[in-house]
Amino acid sequence: MLPGSSGSPNNPMGRVIAVANQKGGVGKTTTAINLAASFAAAEVNTLLVDCDPQSNATSGLGFAKDPDRVNSYHMLMGAASAEEALQTTELEQLWLIPSHKNLIGANLELVDMEGREFRMRQALAPLRDRFHFIVLDCPPALDLLTLNALVAADSVLIPMQGEYFALEGISELLDTIERIRAALNPELAIEGVVLTMFDDRTNLAQQVKTELKNFFGDKLCTTTIPRNIRLAEAPSHGKAALVYDPRSKGAESYIRLAKEMIERQAGYGQQPSPEAPTTEDAVGHGGDQAAAIEEIPGAEKMDKTA
Ligand code: ATP
Ligand code: MG
Repeated sequence: MLPGSSGSPNNPMGRVIAVANQKGGVGKTTTAINLAASFAAAEVNTLLVDCDPQSNATSGLGFAKDPDRVNSYHMLMGAASAEEALQTTELEQLWLIPSHKNLIGANLELVDMEGREFRMRQALAPLRDRFHFIVLDCPPALDLLTLNALVAADSVLIPMQGEYFALEGISELLDTIERIRAALNPELAIEGVVLTMFDDRTNLAQQVKTELKNFFGDKLCTTTIPRNIRLAEAPSHGKAALVYDPRSKGAESYIRLAKEMIERQAGYGQQPSPEAPTTEDAVGHGGDQAAAIEEIPGAEKMDKTA
């Protein structure tokens, strides 16, 4: 059954969260799958949209490659509605809009289309009041697909690996967010920065965490995601970690992250208030992120040894 079609009371205006970082392999897809699964396990209707031609979120939830299945490419190109692309999953309150590698073509095909940055926003609009959360898994590039996701989103969650080069490229992402806010989506906020593959026993990890805290302040999620083998194994079984091994540290950490985000959302209230944190809070004054990054103790040193 489709969410909302039962007239259920679970009928909020969905919060659209893009999981983005143009850096590859930082844990975007692991975060998108497991955060979405944890929201669903908290009994709120949740939709995961695979916006990446690599289709890792799709295969990670157990969907085999199938070019004939309606997917996010068809949705973006206007060949199918978002509703037609919805797939049910093993978790009762989790739905998926899958991807396929043909989505790579959208980057080129969209270039000449009218409103090319708004395609995903428009496609998802009819579904927003049917889900509490809509989680968008972005590709590792600041391309038209990520742009579409950021224009569709209310907020962006940035997974960062707790390692030496964590801040590399972050100014480019923050610049992009600022430009999108200025021109295309003024409401786009930073949901948070989450440390992934984090090993809190090392001095280096602690140092990186302190630096990120100095830079991002409250935007740095309290919950960190440990390096955990179950998180790496679960996708090959086509399952979220909380289904594959609910008691693993990895599954537990994403459940905590979901709880933290639900609490933050409750804190914001129904309407965005002037007090609600904005991108400005995270990126410093006047959007001069590069300068702000240079102010982070040790950041310069980190870059030079890159
Ligand atoms: P891409 O940029 O290619 O889309 P990504 O940012 O989505 O990558 P993932 O695919 O989530 O990153 O993770 C990269 C690799 O690291 C995967 O093999 C994944 O299983 C593994 N991984 C991610 N998070 C963890 C973790 N917390 N513990 C152990 N392995 C992890
Ligand atoms: Mg990915």
